[in-house]
Amino acid sequence: MLDGLDPEQREVATALHGPVCVLAGAGTGKTRAITHRIAYGVRAGILQPSSVLAVTFTNRAAGEMRGRLRQLGAQGVQARTFHSAALRQLQYFWPKAVGGSMPRLVDRKIQLVADAAAACKLRLDRGELRDVTAEIEWSKVTQTVPADYAYAAAKAGREAPRDRAEIAHVYAAYEDLKRNRAVIDFEDVLLLTVAVLQDRHDIAEQVRAQYQHFVVDEYQDVSPLQQRLLELWLGERDSLCVVGDASQTIYSFTGATPDHLLDFRARHPRATVVKLIRDYRSTPQVVHLANGLLTQARGRAADHRLELVSQRAPGPEPVYSEYTDEPTEAEGAARRIRELIDAGVAASEIAVLFRTNSQSETYEQALADAGVPYQLRGAERFFDRPEVRKAGVALRGAARFGGNDALLDDVVDLPSQVRAVLSGEGWTSTPPAGSGAVRERWESLAALVNLAQDFSAARPGATLGDLVAELDERAGAQHAPTVQGVTLASLHAAKGLEWDVVFLVGIAEGMVPITYARTDEQIEEERRLLYVGVTRARERLHLSWALSRAPGGRHTRRPSRFLDGLRPGTAATAGRTGTGAAGGVERGAAARTSAVPRRTRRTVARCRVCGRTLGDAGEMKLMRCEDCPSDMDEGLYERLREWRAVQAERSGQPDFCVFTDRTLMAIAEARPDDSAGLSRIPGVRARKLQRYGADVLAICAGQEIGAGGGRD
Ligand code: ATP
Ligand code: MG
Repeated sequence: MLDGLDPEQREVATALHGPVCVLAGAGTGKTRAITHRIAYGVRAGILQPSSVLAVTFTNRAAGEMRGRLRQLGAQGVQARTFHSAALRQLQYFWPKAVGGSMPRLVDRKIQLVADAAAACKLRLDRGELRDVTAEIEWSKVTQTVPADYAYAAAKAGREAPRDRAEIAHVYAAYEDLKRNRAVIDFEDVLLLTVAVLQDRHDIAEQVRAQYQHFVVDEYQDVSPLQQRLLELWLGERDSLCVVGDASQTIYSFTGATPDHLLDFRARHPRATVVKLIRDYRSTPQVVHLANGLLTQARGRAADHRLELVSQRAPGPEPVYSEYTDEPTEAEGAARRIRELIDAGVAASEIAVLFRTNSQSETYEQALADAGVPYQLRGAERFFDRPEVRKAGVALRGAARFGGNDALLDDVVDLPSQVRAVLSGEGWTSTPPAGSGAVRERWESLAALVNLAQDFSAARPGATLGDLVAELDERAGAQHAPTVQGVTLASLHAAKGLEWDVVFLVGIAEGMVPITYARTDEQIEEERRLLYVGVTRARERLHLSWALSRAPGGRHTRRPSRFLDGLRPGTAATAGRTGTGAAGGVERGAAARTSAVPRRTRRTVARCRVCGRTLGDAGEMKLMRCEDCPSDMDEGLYERLREWRAVQAERSGQPDFCVFTDRTLMAIAEARPDDSAGLSRIPGVRARKLQRYGADVLAICAGQEIGAGGGRD
């Protein structure tokens, strides 16, 4: 268990008692050290698996941690996000602490904020709405009530998008609205769990009896509210191990702060503090750039930076490419990716990372044009996809029949069983041609096949029933398996992950740092975001930017200031735009400024409110940006949901198999009055139109649908 660790990591793994704090840079094996620590403790019989709670910040990271722990032989350890751990406890204790069942969790806060603003007779544009929502979230994670917002925001130096008193007003109205509609939001889950644990000693004791050892990864991004929850879980005990890197603090805009990490020793004088500097992830070339970025950093996090030392063999220098416009930049990246895949690099070992989700569509298109499979982070959740649901039903059915299913009679090993079952769902050993919906469905099924392979490799002898249980657990935590495609993700979503090849795209002023980063602290956070991006690469790193957004546009952009002094030839190009970069910098398509993209584009989906190109699958369904003001008829939406519940119940399917929330929202916004209008709404396909069209149109027309409504 300890063989695969260096001496400092081993110190972390063997310090099983008392508080432990690991301060270390990217790729130094923090996550590895803590997973080994847990596994070592479990295997040595010192830690009871069920008494350990490992917390991270994303479902994906939690899923990976569970996978790693299982491989190390430490099953049964809970690895969760703060949110999912709290949600689980809250659901469990709600009847006892409050009575009744827990209120519904709203998934789209921004709409409620818009309604709250309307109730305050305030008109907020799209940007203001987003910013006010962020202010409300910040208030909640810093445990600031509406009455204190104006003072607290001023004290924290927050740049308020509107008058602070107005925001406080909207915040108060938002809380009222939630109460009236009997819903809670994402932050309430933590706030309410904290409240229950604080007020009810019996419940707190029950939780503490269950969990005795706590491990927190990415601790630099803990919010005051999460920290409070952690303290309540811990009680008077001190079996807490935290790991983090202050230079990777990228969520301070939401109230997170590296102070808890940096002040850990002050709060726990007996703590074992370990520093790791050996970087096992990246080549010296990548590490050199990462170190370079940090030398220019300022602020408290920067004061604690640790210079990384690569442990890997040298690799290629980072490649910098300048392009005339964004589509050309995306084509350039796609072309290189195609070449890499043709040369034998696995698509799953390549990532394209960008600053904002809205950049993804251009890259999706370019990769599709180049015939490259991709996986979009933050798109429709894997386990919500219809084909994955159907495959789950088929696998569950096969598992129930056990060995009696004729289909599986001659098949002994688990992966082959899964392939046999999924063949009935459209899985084939080679992918279908093209990049459309058929291909996407195939990618999902292929991801399930891969998951089965990994699962049976980690647990020899596992049965189909075990796999189904695993899928249920993952679905619960919304952890999607890695599909065999290039990852498209935002820099924020890439935290903690790694790929052989990373393309950092759109590294231009206005994107990195993003236009709305104005204060010094905000700019520093943008720099750290780029540091996070750079340190995701194991071997190859491509950084690119475009001089204008659209083809033929004026060349008004320049590469990110963060690269000044780091990319070759900077001195020759600093401050200049539109001339291409000098020696050492690949000129990409920029040299051929006349290059007109020769591509057949799919029709681009645009937001019907602001006209922006939509990249996110969910947004495409809504036909507008998530945070653009909506004119949804709330009452209609509720009636549609009630109707859906009846349909789902009747057909024995989950709600979203009838229509997803987003489709219902789109319907409640569009209020179609005929089939043609209804069929234009994404998610309403011919079969659904035939089956549910009459009902939905009747509801939209304000008619009552009796219990007998709906056609089967
Ligand atoms: P981040 O700050 O990005 O979250 P991290 O510090 O958590 O990074 P890990 O993800 O744990 O780093 O490790 C980075 C990579 O280095 C992984 O591929 C891991 O397997 C490898 N690694 C870590 N420690 C060692 C070691 N002692 N020997 C070999 N490989 C190692
Ligand atoms: Mg990590």
